[in-house]
Amino acid sequence: MKNSDQLKIIEQKIFELKKIIEKWNQEYYQNNDPTVDDYFYDQKLKELIRLEEEYPQFKTDDSPSQNVGGNVSKGFKKVKHNIREMFSLKNAFNQSDLIHFDEQIKKILNSDDYSYVIEPKIDGLSISLNYRNGKLFQAITRGDGKVGEDVTKNCYLFENLPLEIKIKEEIDLRGEVYISIEKFNSLNQERMLENERLIKENKKIIPLFANPRNLASGTLRHLDYEVVKGRKLNLFIFQALSANKKDDYWDSQIETLNKLKELNFPINENNLHLKNINEVILKIFEIAKKREQLNYEIDGIVIKVNEYKYHKLIGYTSKFPKWAIAYKFPTEIKKTKLLDIFPTVGRTGKITYNAKLAKVNILGTNVERATLHNADYIKSLDIRIGSEVYLKKAGEIIPKVISIVSLEDNKKYQRWNEATNCPACNSKLIRLEGEVDQYCLNINCTGRIIESLNHFVSKKGMNIEGLSKRQLEVFYQKDLIKNIYDIYNLKNKKEQLLNLERYQEKSANNILNSIEKSKNNNLNQLIFALGIRNIGEKAALDLARKYQSIFKIKELSFDELKNFNDFGEVRANSIIAWFKNDLNLKLINDLDKMGVNLNYMGEKIDKSNRLYNQNVLVTGVIEDANRENIKKYLKDLGANYKSGPTKNLDYLFIGKNFSQAKIEKIRQISDAKIIYVNKLSEIK
Ligand SMILES: [Zn+2]
Repeated sequence: MKNSDQLKIIEQKIFELKKIIEKWNQEYYQNNDPTVDDYFYDQKLKELIRLEEEYPQFKTDDSPSQNVGGNVSKGFKKVKHNIREMFSLKNAFNQSDLIHFDEQIKKILNSDDYSYVIEPKIDGLSISLNYRNGKLFQAITRGDGKVGEDVTKNCYLFENLPLEIKIKEEIDLRGEVYISIEKFNSLNQERMLENERLIKENKKIIPLFANPRNLASGTLRHLDYEVVKGRKLNLFIFQALSANKKDDYWDSQIETLNKLKELNFPINENNLHLKNINEVILKIFEIAKKREQLNYEIDGIVIKVNEYKYHKLIGYTSKFPKWAIAYKFPTEIKKTKLLDIFPTVGRTGKITYNAKLAKVNILGTNVERATLHNADYIKSLDIRIGSEVYLKKAGEIIPKVISIVSLEDNKKYQRWNEATNCPACNSKLIRLEGEVDQYCLNINCTGRIIESLNHFVSKKGMNIEGLSKRQLEVFYQKDLIKNIYDIYNLKNKKEQLLNLERYQEKSANNILNSIEKSKNNNLNQLIFALGIRNIGEKAALDLARKYQSIFKIKELSFDELKNFNDFGEVRANSIIAWFKNDLNLKLINDLDKMGVNLNYMGEKIDKSNRLYNQNVLVTGVIEDANRENIKKYLKDLGANYKSGPTKNLDYLFIGKNFSQAKIEKIRQISDAKIIYVNKLSEIK
């Protein structure tokens, strides 16, 4: 129990939180000119909600916590969301929140015969698009969920939004408006240039855009048509509601996404249809890892029960639907001092810039380094050595410097200049036309060679345990390993190896044994390990499966490669270029002589896999495979491929666009386990 003094402090604290959040709301929603990063906003709002829950006596109806988020501004006409209110989603922050969410659903439905669809949660602005007689009639922002703003005129500027559709009845399509990271960076870069001029003229500078979400929001609700046009907004659609039914237009989330795609609406392709919450949890972490490669910001994953027939049963709370939840990636932003900027060179010669930071604890770990990407990134944010910077860490992503703290304070330090020479070999760095990155083109560059060797021995490559990057550096300096061939020749230099500090008979033997062992690796591992540009793990596996031998791949023509799978010109060129190089051809021959396996040995059948010796039928479309691929894939797993319905079926895998009638028939004659999949690798 708190005494009255403590309670007074809490009341005051709540009052202050309300005031600051209201000020931010005003900036964000009315003036389109936010001064706060979303992260800080969320933190304060969360703190307010927590205090109000703990001390309900201080909770008032006008508190910003009672608002789904966002009032309507004055510049646009206010419009009601007619078909259905626009709900926000409840947040989940960890696995147990997700499991709890699933348990509630299971309890209500009293069954586990439902599935989930997950989609990246775009960090943008929600919008509802009303179509009548096949034409875009009105576009409304979410506003407070019930009433939004009519931004129809700005919606004609979306490059990827069909304005006419085949569906004639009235529907609402809902989605998220965003601005690409690329565009966000280039707009800020323009502002930087503009500011340079303003500083020279002793005029007040314009603040940079805080983040893509605020920029998208400000842009969509901008009154100047020309400004909106120049900023190139994008959107993803994920929901379709029928005015007649006052309900979803189609029957499931996955069907909605597929149908929207057929109608040429932009949908996010990173959606997955999954059979249960455990799969959801696994996939969330996979997507979290892919985050940095996306050209738009996501701050979590939206998880929805796929079958709409269950949505009504599961229902809503006063604020949220109970059939959906948003998993939010953990994120933290901290302030620290940037001590130095240093470049490193990768195996392709690409230069990456890194920040050395004053030590700071972020999401539970001490951080002293962060990525700064490339020179353009540093310049566009005007990061200088000595600057105080905001550092952001989001889940598994490498910490990243996101902005400087104060433009004023920053002026004390010298403007930063990009490196002109390679940090490893001192060659002049080159910027290829149309590329933001700088490259070291010296193929004998020590930095590049060490990185290539490290890639070769990496887990996904030849998986040579006991050879770390640090060791490779030592071996390189001592002339023990200068190239890939030398790795396999190391056994002939054991004397020298034992002469090194810290290498005894046992540790030397361990390394030599794992090198020996790697000779029996499958071809796909070797192809990946060779580090051919643009050839990742999957491309390596596809090549190995199809062509079986490295010598066969060597003989392929440009056209054959270009037309293989989804390879295209870029990959085809990379492979042709690699095999054109005499050093690479010599390497292949040397590896052959050393007894390194250069052939595909098929999938090693693991008899413990559940499909082994089972009758399996795959129906519908599997995104990345045709019938032949599926047949071969199942054979490699030791499963019995079935081409049609049969009584003794054990497993039925269902891809996209399946025939409902066929599935009903199979259900009637067998009690096969039914699993929905999108990709070949999900058949397991
Ligand atoms: Zn170099």
